[in-house]
Amino acid sequence: MALLVQKYGGTSMGSVERIEHVASKVKAAVDRGHQIVVVVSAMSGETDRLIKLAKGINPRPPSRELDQMIATGEQVTISLLAMALEKIGVPARSYTGAQVAIRTDKAYNKARIQQIETERLLADCKAGIVPVVAGFQGIDDDGNITTLGRGGSDTTGVALAAALKADECQIYTDVDGVYTTDPRVEPKARRLDRITFEEMLELASLGSKVLQIRSVEFAGKYKVPLRVLSTFVEGPGTLITLDEKPSEGTMEEPLISGIAFSRDEAQLTVAGVPDRPGIAAAILGPIGDANIEVDMIVQNVGADGTTDFTFTVSRGEYERATDVAKKVVEELNAKGVRTALDICKVSLVGVGMRSHAGIAAKMFKTLASEGINIRMISTSEIKISVVVEDKYLELAVRALHKAFDLAAPST
Ligand code: ASP
Ligand code: MG
Repeated sequence: MALLVQKYGGTSMGSVERIEHVASKVKAAVDRGHQIVVVVSAMSGETDRLIKLAKGINPRPPSRELDQMIATGEQVTISLLAMALEKIGVPARSYTGAQVAIRTDKAYNKARIQQIETERLLADCKAGIVPVVAGFQGIDDDGNITTLGRGGSDTTGVALAAALKADECQIYTDVDGVYTTDPRVEPKARRLDRITFEEMLELASLGSKVLQIRSVEFAGKYKVPLRVLSTFVEGPGTLITLDEKPSEGTMEEPLISGIAFSRDEAQLTVAGVPDRPGIAAAILGPIGDANIEVDMIVQNVGADGTTDFTFTVSRGEYERATDVAKKVVEELNAKGVRTALDICKVSLVGVGMRSHAGIAAKMFKTLASEGINIRMISTSEIKISVVVEDKYLELAVRALHKAFDLAAPST
């Protein structure tokens, strides 16, 4: 018997039929002898609808009132699911965040969970009752309702699993796991049986939006095994774990777990800056002061005592970054600013990189043989990223997927 937290997302709760389907899945787990605590999202589209209503009154609604209202989406689904469970003979009880006592700080719209009371939930489990808890919401010390940010039910699920010391937190969604890359770009992309938290964070931050990033960080920190599975298709899903070694009977750890990519990139070059101490700080200082996040950085060494300094920012920050860079050019008496928007970033991610040399070389060779020019490179312990022209994105992802044998099953 295991204690499992099962979180069902908005699509899974999208209609009465779907809620009944979720109830049957919960019942099946209960029938297998497990203790289940359920966390649910609002019906798909409901949170958007509520936000739109609020904005109809005030484009910038007071954040306390907004949270008070958007938390209602989940209050509907908890009771509907509890009713559906009761109907098929599974005793169930619904709880809002406040009723459980999911305590958060006071940061409306992006609150952080500080503490969760578990007595009531554990007592229900012991008595054979399935608690159905509203995701996304909590309560601050003064009794105000707070919400955790969009997609926050994932974090509720993980936080509950950590507080309850559950054996696993299962995130049920509309995809059947985490893939080696986006199947819309490479149809041969394969579902991963397992992936480490570190790898998942790299893949998630690079654009695969299966889970709210905060929930993955949370799960890693509290060592909660996380599993992503489909509500609609039976299957083992993808286990996200601390353990880097695959279980007995599987073959050697694959070198690369996945390929992430992002089109949300812009490249800026400050050309002809004097090559002397303090230049990087003189350029990136004002960029940082403007609250613009810099991703990759390259500095070329010039022969004539000047250098070119290139960096990337997200596309949404492009205009602001260019304005700041132009001011820096004046101050440093540099040649000018060059910018490029027709770029993308492609990254190989895998903990296997730590113990294997030659992965970067193989990546560069693969891109070269497709005639793809690399504009920038950056590496970390478990990731190699390149910036290339955006028209080559699909080609680059597919070529790398093939070169690193990602379509082949890992077992
Ligand atoms: N209902 C909230 C949202 O749409 C929370 C969630 O679904 O995780 O963002
Ligand atoms: Mg979600």
